[in-house]
Amino acid sequence: MAKKQFKTESKKLMDLMINSIYTNKEIFLRELISNASDAIDKLYFKSLTDSSVGLSKDDFEILITIDKDARTIKVSDNGIGMTKDELENNLGTIAKSGSLDFKTENSLDDKIDIIGQFGVGFYSAFMVSSKVTVISRSFGSDEAWVWESSGADGYTIKETQKDKAGTEITMTLKDNTDDENYGEFLEEYRISGIIKKYSDYVRYPIRMYREKTREKERPADAGEDYTPEYETYTELETVNSMIPLWKRQKKDVTDEEYNNFYKEKFMDYTDPARVIYTNTEGAISYSALMFIPSRTPYDYYTREYEKGLQLYTSGVMIMDKCADLLPDCFSFVKGVVDSQDLSLNISREMLQQDRQLTVIRRNLEKKIKNELKSMLTAERDKYEEFWKNFGRQIKFGCYNSFGQNAELLKDLLMFYSAREKKMITLDEYTTAMGSEQKYIYYAAGDSVDRLAKLPAAQTVLSKDCDLLLLSEDVDEFCLQVLREYGEKEFKNINSGDLELETEEEKKAADKAGEESRDLLDAIKKALDGKVKDVKISTRLTEHPVCITADGPVSIEMEKILASMPGNEGEKPVSDKVLELNANHPVFEKLKAADEASLKKYAEILYNQARLIEGLPVEDPIEYTKLVCELF
Ligand code: ADP
Repeated sequence: MAKKQFKTESKKLMDLMINSIYTNKEIFLRELISNASDAIDKLYFKSLTDSSVGLSKDDFEILITIDKDARTIKVSDNGIGMTKDELENNLGTIAKSGSLDFKTENSLDDKIDIIGQFGVGFYSAFMVSSKVTVISRSFGSDEAWVWESSGADGYTIKETQKDKAGTEITMTLKDNTDDENYGEFLEEYRISGIIKKYSDYVRYPIRMYREKTREKERPADAGEDYTPEYETYTELETVNSMIPLWKRQKKDVTDEEYNNFYKEKFMDYTDPARVIYTNTEGAISYSALMFIPSRTPYDYYTREYEKGLQLYTSGVMIMDKCADLLPDCFSFVKGVVDSQDLSLNISREMLQQDRQLTVIRRNLEKKIKNELKSMLTAERDKYEEFWKNFGRQIKFGCYNSFGQNAELLKDLLMFYSAREKKMITLDEYTTAMGSEQKYIYYAAGDSVDRLAKLPAAQTVLSKDCDLLLLSEDVDEFCLQVLREYGEKEFKNINSGDLELETEEEKKAADKAGEESRDLLDAIKKALDGKVKDVKISTRLTEHPVCITADGPVSIEMEKILASMPGNEGEKPVSDKVLELNANHPVFEKLKAADEASLKKYAEILYNQARLIEGLPVEDPIEYTKLVCELF
């Protein structure tokens, strides 16, 4: 009989499978079992409305048969089956071709990676088989067909006999090689292990004949010294537990089962940092099994990343990534939600307005937060690791949507403490602060080391106050949205009055300010609108000058906003105050300067202060000229 040719992409895929060096070959069984389960689903749903199906839910099954002598393994189902055309079309094309672009010159490794990620269904049988035979009879038809292929050179199809609807796939395993032991797939324990690992919650029984040993019946006259005799027999056993992992009680599931489930389902190679399980009965009943990954997905902080939980209703998946179930701040959470109260035919648009879904989301949000909090309390190291991975997202979550989630998230925040030299929470900061301390102090910039050296930072620390060093762009925006924690306001050490000075210091500064009023006004005038004010500093000890901000936009925020794309010239800038150290020799020089020199000094000092803050010098050529004039 003449062989028929595969379509081009299928042939390529088949080649790839046959020659695959993909090590995880065992997944072929998962793929065939899930096809079988899909086929049964179709017939089962039909049976609900069509009595001619003649099967009830308990009649459906997937049978795995191993024949060591023939070196075959067979997967049979009593599902919907395939007609001749369906056999040719379905098994001759790639169903998930979207994930496999063979037009581009991907390297073999890339392709194998793709296989690993998406699975390629039926074709994976060719990773382990030298020949695959598919016998199928479609429900409602009395013809049956056998499709057979030994590889990429084509397939045959001819009529056969089969007494019931369904499909039977027989794989003749490849011969063992030096590197590969295909024979292992003839071992019952190996096959049942693979079924448990990947297909445990397939909703239909996966049965398999297993060899067992039992004692032979004792003769009636067996005496005390009788030696028992044993015999082997085979028994049909259901291998899978059928109940989805998330429907099982937490105490009945091992950590390993959870971890394997997570890794398989969400394509990660590391165990999750935390497993979150909840089962709620009530007005809306649902169970949810969620995971916090222990590393940041490679695309997490990109636009490509899609958040969402898998949504099931009564064990049937209705949406792969339901975004409405997760707030953005927890977009890193992976998992499944199953609720019998949602309709199977609910559309995407309807889901968005679904009130029940909103209730579930709110509950999950609280649940996730509580889990994170308990991780923070009980597993500090783990939490700090989590924070490294996803803290940025939590901070964005605080800042976004006008702080709607700030209340939920504020206890999860961590920042670097200048005094403790480690990450601390806001609660830890406020608990440690003295009762007379008015503010939660922080400094924002791009490096913790640099921030710790800021003159004002030294001042704050010398007053026995701790200081949070914020080095991520989102940090200060996040604190601004919060405004306060535990009734203590946040205070940027480079904005406004720190209120750290003693009465005497304050008086001394006021007095110095009064005495130098004319000088300060003259400097302000010389700077010609660049600063809002010039004053005597209470935060400087060694440096002659600094710039602080007065108003809602801090200097660090000005820098961040400037670096973002957007309309130039329309971005908010900070209102700057030039502060002078009245105890510095430079100040004496200023007092003695004439009007022309004062203008130059003011320019130089102003630009120096900008440099200290990491702001650009406004006119570098002019600045250099001024500095050179000092020689
Ligand atoms: P996928 O399962 O992703 O669609 P496959 O290559 O595994 O891709 O299968 C292609 C198609 O072949 C399926 O969509 C289904 O229509 C059909 N098919 C595969 N296995 C069976 C089966 N056991 N019973 C009925 N149809 C099947």
